[in-house]
Parts: sequence; C-alpha cells; structure tokens
Amino acid sequence: MPSRESYIVKRGKKQSRRRAEKETGQRSALFTTALGLNVSAGSIPSLPVSGSPSDPSKGSGTRLNRAPAPPKPTSPASTFWQPIRSFALSQLTSLVRRATLRESDLAPKYEKVHNFKVHTFRGPHWCEYCANFMWGLIAQGVKCADCGLNVHKQCSKVVPNDCQPDLRHVKKVYSCDLTTLVKAHNTKRPMVVDMCIQELEARGLQSEGLYRISGFSELIEDVKLAFDRDGEKADISTNAYEDINIITGALKLYFRELPIPLITYDAHPRFIDAAKISDPEKRLEALHEALKLLPPAHCETLRYLMAHLKRVTQNEKDNLMSSENLGIVFGPTLMRAPELDAMTALNDIRYQRLVVETLITNEDVLF
Ligand SMILES: [Zn+2]
Ligand SMILES: [Zn+2]
Repeated sequence: MPSRESYIVKRGKKQSRRRAEKETGQRSALFTTALGLNVSAGSIPSLPVSGSPSDPSKGSGTRLNRAPAPPKPTSPASTFWQPIRSFALSQLTSLVRRATLRESDLAPKYEKVHNFKVHTFRGPHWCEYCANFMWGLIAQGVKCADCGLNVHKQCSKVVPNDCQPDLRHVKKVYSCDLTTLVKAHNTKRPMVVDMCIQELEARGLQSEGLYRISGFSELIEDVKLAFDRDGEKADISTNAYEDINIITGALKLYFRELPIPLITYDAHPRFIDAAKISDPEKRLEALHEALKLLPPAHCETLRYLMAHLKRVTQNEKDNLMSSENLGIVFGPTLMRAPELDAMTALNDIRYQRLVVETLITNEDVLF
C-alpha cells in the first residue's frame, strides 16, 4: 500500500522534525543552564530536562541531520551540512588569504574599484561582503573580473574600492587597465613604462628623432607579445631588439592601447581648459589642479614619463627632439577625447600638444 507507506514516512518525518526541534530547544536550555552554573556556581537551578527520553546524550537515533531546519552556525556539526560547512570554511580561508595579501603589499596602496560582472555560480555560494547565502539558480550575484570577489549585486554597490587584482585573472599587460596592472604586479608603475625608459636611458638618449621615428611595426608587436607573455621577464635588451625605435614604439603603443588613457577621460576636459588659458602662470595653476583629478597610479606614471621626456629634451642638440616636438608625438597618445564630434576633437589636438609640452617643460614644479 503505497499511500499508507508514504503517510508513515511523512508522519515519521514530522515526528522526527518535532523531536529535533524539541531537542534543539532542550540543548540550548542545557547550554544556558550550564553557562549559568559556570557564572554562579552557588545557586544550582533545577534541571527539568535532564534525563528526559530525548536527551541528546542518550542518542535515541533521531539526529539533527534529518531536521529540515535551516543551518545555524551554532548548531552542532551534522553529517548532512558537512560539505556545505567545509565549503563555507574554504570561502572564509579565501577571505583570510585576501587579507594577508593586502597586508604584504609593498607597492603604494592605490585605490581600485572592482570590475564586477554578473555571474552564475555553480554550487552554493556565500557573499564575501555580507556573508549571506546567494540565492537563485542563475545570476545569483556578481564576480570581480580582476580579483574574483563574489558578492550580491546589491552588496557590490557598497563594497569598498579595495580591489586587489590577482594574476590569475589579469593575464595581459597591454590593453589592461593601468591601475589593475600595477596592483596585480605589485609595482609602482606599469613594468612596460619602467623597463622601456630604463632601457632607453641605458642606451643613451642621443638617437636622432627619438620617439618621432617609428620602428618596424612587426617588431614592436613582438615586444608587446613578450610583455604580455613574460611580464617583467620580457627581454628588451640590445641583443633582442637592436633598433632603439622599437623600444620607443613599444612604449608609445602601450599608452595608445590603454583602455583609459593616461590622462583619463574624466580629467581630459580640465586639461584642455587649462591649455586654453593664455596667462602662463594661471595655466600652470590650472594644470596643477587638473593633475589632482588623475588616479594616483596614472599621476605617478605621468610624472615618471615627463621626467624622462625632459631628459630627452636635454639631449636636443643630438636627438633634435624639443618639448614641442614631443608634445606633437605624445599629445594624442596620452590624451584621447571622450566621445566628441570630429570638429571638437580636431580642435583639441592643438591643446593636447600644448598640455604635454607644458607638462614636460614644467615637470619639476608641477609634480
Ligand atoms: Zn576586485
Ligand atoms: Zn551580500
């Protein structure tokens, strides 16, 4: 008789559930009494539950693991919840790992926003911000594409900007967001910038038309691939690339391929406005204010590059590169107009040159 059987099963379940509930209540009662005993050893309260038929210590066969009650962190360990508990623990360890990673940072602590994308999690997941369960079958929450942080969509709005990109998620060097790259590699500036500039300065800055003459584009592409593949281990020495213009080309390409230009879209109008000021003193002041709008990693990279370009101009009699010439080369490379009509964009080019030229000449007072 299947109906009767199912009834028995149902009834059995119901009973065991009731028993389990009772048990939990008694357990907590016991627990509090035990606590009370510890606190005031003198007054021994009567224990109405001790020795009752469903005393957990007697092990009557009814276990909590059959109870459909929601898991509580304080509930006793049960076999059913064990895998989920261990999963939660692994999530916790990942949080701990994250914390230790952040502590051992050597490079300056640039603030970085997370790069959240809607994500479908396989298996149970807990929000790493509020520690609550992420409900649903698909698109339960969002995941940061740079550091792998998993949070609820609503929690993502309040998570602090403390993204610490992981090299497992940040695979490329070129066309990777600048702050993401330096945080992932734990460096002050993108390694491409440091390595190319160091290499150029070691070779000497006297080469005629430095930064103006373009190198063989296939070899520049080759340098890019080397950086993407080997990071700071990329070989850009004279043995690998004899032509100095390959190195300058690779550096310029790096800036051109940044998803957000070195002088960011947000700050762009302020730099253009500053360049439009005819009074040199006021223009410098306005540029100084505009620099404050740049993210710290961008500002630091710009400062380093400008100091280098200044040294390039100090060799002008050999390389024939003045700050004006470098402004022409680097203007559109470092500054890109945020979606403007063709006319305004064309008009801006003049001011972009002027911005870079002014930054190079006044590098020592501006930064
Ligand atoms: Zn992140
Ligand atoms: Zn949450």
